[in-house]
Amino acid sequence: MGKHITIELFQTHGTNCPIRIATEREITVLYEDLGKNTWGYYTCIRRMPVIHINSRLQGFLRPFAVAHELGHHFLHPGVNTPFLRRNTLFSIDKIEREANHFALHLLIGDLQSELGETSHQFLLRCGIPEQFHEFY
Ligand SMILES: [Zn+2]
Repeated sequence: MGKHITIELFQTHGTNCPIRIATEREITVLYEDLGKNTWGYYTCIRRMPVIHINSRLQGFLRPFAVAHELGHHFLHPGVNTPFLRRNTLFSIDKIEREANHFALHLLIGDLQSELGETSHQFLLRCGIPEQFHEFY
């Protein structure tokens, strides 16, 4: 499901850059110091979608975190993940997995694995660091 949406977004926006897609969808991306343990979170208050990203994130983590929060925007509209995290244990894992899967496929864009290529080789060719391969 997440994969289908990422292909649609890629085709609509002509890019797999999560920051450009967010801008074109009028989703505000804010960079804030969120401490050591939070990559980001998504809020939609009075129909104003905002992606909050930890300004401490470096390298691949930054676009990945934006893509992950975009996943919440498209897959889980109206779900307040910080609220869920405080109040329930069930379902948070599932939506986090979905957002991670979405993020990875958005960043892969329209690249396809080639014959004889392992998924490991393919993901490295897409520029996905090894520790994110489990989300494929
Ligand atoms: Zn999340």
